[in-house]
Amino acid sequence: MTMLSSRRGCACCLPTLGRRGIFGLAASAFLAPMARAEDGTAYDSMLLTCIDPRLVTPVNAWMGTRGLTGKFSQFAIAGAPVGVVAPAFAAWHTAFWDNLGASIQLHKITRVIAVAHRDCGAAAIAYGDASIATPEAETALHTRVYGEFKTELAKRQPSLRVEGGLMALDGKIEMFA
Ligand SMILES: [Zn+2]
Repeated sequence: MTMLSSRRGCACCLPTLGRRGIFGLAASAFLAPMARAEDGTAYDSMLLTCIDPRLVTPVNAWMGTRGLTGKFSQFAIAGAPVGVVAPAFAAWHTAFWDNLGASIQLHKITRVIAVAHRDCGAAAIAYGDASIATPEAETALHTRVYGEFKTELAKRQPSLRVEGGLMALDGKIEMFA
């Protein structure tokens, strides 16, 4: 009896699941609004962040509040956009652009989210201590650096959307225009 009922279960369920599976695949392939990575996931962004340990958790938590957990690749480099455009870190720049290209190819991302932060030691190394000595000075510095980053991104990957912000050590973020 047990075997019979189990066999009967297979006989009536499998064709139904099979049809639903095939229909589901066909429908999602036909209706899919965005490109998908090779593993079938629709990833959204590459996150560009500083290596500063104080910001690792806040930045990822902020991405989570935006519903992006599991939907972004991540490139961490000292200074975030500072590490990508500052002449002092010229030797690093290619690594970012190459990794961004790889993420576009592999994960089909369509956006870069660049998060700089206050009290950034890398910004002080690249542009001098005075550049981050006051909140006003560091806002001005990171706004200018983000502008340079956007200009460079527009040249290299014009199809990508971009947004950026300056995060305080408490996790509060001000977005750049
Ligand atoms: Zn930093």
